[in-house]
Parts: sequence; structure tokens; C-alpha cells
Amino acid sequence: MTNLFPQQKIDRLKDLIDTSAKIVIVTHVNPDGDAIGSSIAWHDFLREQGIESTIIVPNHFPDFLKWIGGSDRILIYSHSREKCERILKSADLLFCLDFNNLPRLDALGAFLETLSLKKVLIDHHIRADEQNFTLSFSKVPMSSTCEIVYNIIVQITGNRHVSPPLAEALYTGIMTDTGAFFHSSTSELFRIVADLMECGIDRTKIHSAVYNSFSENRMKLMGYCLHNKMEVLRDYNAAYICLTRSELDSFQFEPGDTEGFVNIPLSIKGIILSVFFVESKDGYIKISFRSIGDFSVDNMARKYFNGGGHKNASGGKSFTSLDDTVAFFKHILPEFKEIMNYEL
Ligand code: 5GP
Ligand code: MN
Repeated sequence: MTNLFPQQKIDRLKDLIDTSAKIVIVTHVNPDGDAIGSSIAWHDFLREQGIESTIIVPNHFPDFLKWIGGSDRILIYSHSREKCERILKSADLLFCLDFNNLPRLDALGAFLETLSLKKVLIDHHIRADEQNFTLSFSKVPMSSTCEIVYNIIVQITGNRHVSPPLAEALYTGIMTDTGAFFHSSTSELFRIVADLMECGIDRTKIHSAVYNSFSENRMKLMGYCLHNKMEVLRDYNAAYICLTRSELDSFQFEPGDTEGFVNIPLSIKGIILSVFFVESKDGYIKISFRSIGDFSVDNMARKYFNGGGHKNASGGKSFTSLDDTVAFFKHILPEFKEIMNYEL
């Protein structure tokens, strides 16, 4: 494994850690496997170096990530705002994992903008806001933030062995961000997975904990989405699903229940763009975009839906009604002519 970052940058990181008294780790809103996995792995690594830190996330994360060791110590800003703000006000170093700019943290990001503390970015999203960080470990081609964190740990310690709980957290983020090794999975990534296996992870257990632990309600909601709500736009090789709040309520929705739904229409032959619109409880429409191949959903999410992410997986928001958002999506589709010319 060749060094991902120049030694000088690693030395600067070590120096920042050594000269800081209170360290906080934050990650993006609606934290996913990579956000939680990388935050816990980085926290565990710091602890192994004798350095304590606190993980704060903007809002709740799904139950299927709660088996990860240490996840019960994560503070949730939307739930314990005062406590989180007290900790952040006395912090002097902030690690920002798995997001490219502070607005991705919603209200937590707005609070952080009011503080002047040193910030270190570790992330793999497009267009990281690097100038607003003291130090940046931004690598877009990487599968996941967990892959970057592993590289940094190996560069610091000179050792490819990590403790089993840390390896489990890293593997979870890599597995979820690659869609269980469907995309962004290079030979180098599989070398890392081999390392993690040698550290003693149980891949079957992790896979089951994440993918086979859903509720009956989620399965019924999925069936409802596919049978009643999926629209296929053959002219554009696209499909979309939209869900209202009351539809979610009728299936006793819990955070994480719609995780992965956006990917399902991509398994229809010829569909290369899939979009999932859902009324969030915060009053806006949360949109997920997925694509196959060269079509960049990041461009679409950034230009029209206040979002972005990766070429084949992006998110965004709309502040109009669900119906208007879907109508707007259909209205702008013809502009993205390249999806119509997709050759199977
Ligand atoms: P998801 O659809 O799973 O919420 O997000 C897919 C990808 O896009 C993730 O990598 C996520 O970090 C990113 N993403 C989701 N929502 C937003 C957003 O509002 N803005 C930006 N810049 N990225 C987003
Ligand atoms: Mn990620």
C-alpha cells in the first residue's frame, strides 16, 4: 500500500492532535454506515493513542448501525443540543468526517460556523470546501471515508493491524458505501478488506447486522413503494418513487426504514437513473439520486436540488411541495439528454 498522503501532512496532523486538549468528531446529517463507522473508528484510534474525543452527530442514526461498539456513546445534537454546544464551545480541535462542507450538518453546522476552532476534514465527496479547514484529507476517488481513515491510521502507525472493534467499524463503512462491494471497489480496497479480515472481523455477522435486521414494517413499506409508487420514465431510462409523510406514518416509519429503496429501480433493465423523494419531518423534501455509469447525478443535484455528493450517488433538498418537486424534476429531465442515449 503506497502512502495516500504526503508525510508532511501526516506530521501536521499528529502535531494538531498532540497540541489539542479537547477533540470532537462530527459527521453529516442522517448519518449512514460510513459516517458512523469512520467516526467510531477514528475515535477508537485516538483512544488507543491515549487521546479522548467525543462524537457528535446532527440527528438520529438508524438502528441497523447501533450494534457497532461505542455507538451508544455518540451524542445527538438534535436531541441534546445544550450538552453538545457546551462540549463544542470548549473544544479546540474538530474532526469533520464524511462531508464536504458545514451546511451538510444543518443546525449543527450553523452552530459550528459561530465557533473558531481548528478543523480537520477527512472526506471523499466531490468539491470539498478545503479552504475552510485547517487541514484537509479529501480524496474523491476513495470508496468511503473509512478507506481514507484506514490509510491515515496505517501511515501514522506504520502497521496494517488494527483492533477488531476498529476493524469492524471500518468494514461497515466500506461495505455500506460501496453497496456491498458493487461500486468503487478497487483492488486496493480489497487489499484493505483482506487486512481487516486478518484483524479478526466477522463479515457474515456484519452483513447480517446491517442488511438482515429490518422491521416487518419496512418490508411492507418497500412492497408498497415498488407496487404502488414507482414510476418508470422509459424515455429517460429513469424511475422515481415519492412518499408523503402520511404514507410513512401508515407504516410506522422509523429512521433508516427507507435506506436503500432508491437503489432498487436500478435493477430494472435499462434504468440508469433512480430518484427517491420523501417528505422529511423537518418540512422539506429529501431527495436521493442514484445512477449507473457516466451519468452524473451530482450535476443534477447540485444544479437544481441544493445538493450534491458523488457522480453515482447524491442527495438534495427541495423546499416546495412533494408534487411540485416531482413536477419540477420531470420538467428539467429533458435537459439531461445524455440519459436518453444510454446504450445497454
Ligand atoms: P443519500 O441519498 O444516501 O442521502 O446520499 C447519497 C450521497 O449524497 C451521500 O454520499 C451523501 O453524503 C450525499 N448527500 C446527501 N444529501 C446531500 C446534500 O444535501 N448535499 C450534498 N452536498 N451531498 C448530499
Ligand atoms: Mn461516505
